[in-house]
Amino acid sequence: MSSSFKGRCNCGKFAFTAPQHKGVAACFCKCCVRGGGSLCSLNAVIPAGKDGLTFTGDAKEGDLNVYLDKETSSGKPMQRKFCGSCGSPLLSVPEDSEIAYFKYSLLEDSDAYLASKGPDMVIFTKRAPEWAKPGDAQDATKNGLQWPKKDETQFSA
Ligand SMILES: [Zn+2]
Repeated sequence: MSSSFKGRCNCGKFAFTAPQHKGVAACFCKCCVRGGGSLCSLNAVIPAGKDGLTFTGDAKEGDLNVYLDKETSSGKPMQRKFCGSCGSPLLSVPEDSEIAYFKYSLLEDSDAYLASKGPDMVIFTKRAPEWAKPGDAQDATKNGLQWPKKDETQFSA
């Protein structure tokens, strides 16, 4: 697997390369569903800030629109960053956190990765429809998986 991944929002205003992620979670929480207008969201864990996404076009992370979400399931406020031109969600950054989640579906090669491997974890599975229920190995509701895993929350330079 390559060490960086290219992606962009729908309109292309925001183009980036992502660092090697720490896994991909399919999240069925209401915030992800509402924010993406989708069945679930594919979130990849990366470092927050300068070690996170590298913006390769004229538009940088600071140019993203930000919605401060205070209705998260964890109760911890989350910055939800999105393209103000096309509305694509790019990043979710928990308050006071070293990690961020980026929307994995924005990557050019997301289909190939998911076709070969599938998501590493599926969370908030109670909200998933029967036809989209994960196997037990991926179901965080049944096996107590934590996202991100505790030993993966710390990033070294
Ligand atoms: Zn856009």
